[in-house]
Amino acid sequence: MTAPTDFERLSSWITDAAPEMIAMQRELTSRPALSPESGGEGEAEKARWLEECLAGWDFPEPERYPAPDPAVPGGERPNLVYRLSGREHDSTTWILTHLDVVPPGERELWSGDPWVVREDGDRLIGRGTEDNQQGLVSAVFAARALIEHGLTPPCDVALAFVADEETGSEHGAGFLMREQADLFGPDDRLLIPDAGDDEGTMIEVAEKSIAWLTFTIRGRQTHASTPDHGVNAHRAGAHLIVMLEGLHEEFDAHDELFDPPTSTFEPTLKKANVENINTIPGEDVSAFDCRVMPCYDLDDVFASIEASAREIERLFGVTVTIEKTQWQPAAPPTPADAPIVGLLQQAISTVYGVEARPMGIGGGTVAAFFRAAGIPAAVWSRLDDTAHMPDEYCRVSNMVGDARVMAHLFLEA
Ligand SMILES: [Zn+2]
Repeated sequence: MTAPTDFERLSSWITDAAPEMIAMQRELTSRPALSPESGGEGEAEKARWLEECLAGWDFPEPERYPAPDPAVPGGERPNLVYRLSGREHDSTTWILTHLDVVPPGERELWSGDPWVVREDGDRLIGRGTEDNQQGLVSAVFAARALIEHGLTPPCDVALAFVADEETGSEHGAGFLMREQADLFGPDDRLLIPDAGDDEGTMIEVAEKSIAWLTFTIRGRQTHASTPDHGVNAHRAGAHLIVMLEGLHEEFDAHDELFDPPTSTFEPTLKKANVENINTIPGEDVSAFDCRVMPCYDLDDVFASIEASAREIERLFGVTVTIEKTQWQPAAPPTPADAPIVGLLQQAISTVYGVEARPMGIGGGTVAAFFRAAGIPAAVWSRLDDTAHMPDEYCRVSNMVGDARVMAHLFLEA
């Protein structure tokens, strides 16, 4: 019989630790970390408990990077970094998770108290159990497995627990990248276990740019029997929507990394105009949701849309104003051959026996903050995607499996 490898030792320890991981989920869920925007007091209590818990498991003292926020008691949002020293210190393997959760939404849609974890077979039901406590607990137990076995990984390992992911990351990842940018280096490997699919085969490395544009077209209202006395804003708006179909041809880059593999330009919201049939509408409001491949400059897309708007003004005698309701240029993608991607593929194949592949999504995750700064970040997890839903749940098997993937990552990086 051959001696078990380091990975096998960590892996079986993690598997046996499932009851402790479940207990940790219970404690975390019972401390609702809601942002002030969602009517909560932030992440302080949850972070305090986490610190206490990790101290009890012989984790080193954390580095604390509190983000000032007068909207919460104590005036600060917590951001914590725990480091385990490797044999070499030129680069770090990071796992970044967020402490905050979203509100439960309509209580009647829950089968029980959202802040009390209920076990249902393999499922742990409760707000935050999947988003993002699955990743958080997995990361803690992968690191704890190293500590328990006295193993020094080849490179430094760090866990980051951040605030404010659900409401824009101003006080979380955004704050860290603004105020503590030198924490992360271009040779680091960053895993963000905050999205994925139920097989664990999707490694998100790229995002499309997002532009939400609201068009307000102004003509002149009049009686429908005498249209020449007015200017029909609705007709002009309809022509604009059709004209913008041309965006598909103009920005037609195709990349199978994404699903769908092209930019999308979708007319969505349409505000009600007049209430009766015999009035020519003097105002027309509609909106587009555009998801643009990262190879394009979003400003070029906007310039093309503006040119169409000017053309509509000229053809129909209306005025068209365009509001950028949301404007998020994509960060450059993490290269599909970045070390973090290959290491993850190897770990996922070892633990889950599936072949994961790098993919792009419609946008936008917290990874964008890091990619924008040239830090290779991959978003991966194996989950059923119940985040933000009533009866959100995490599968214990995924929490344990993901912890084993992370332990593999620490040992092989
Ligand atoms: Zn999340």
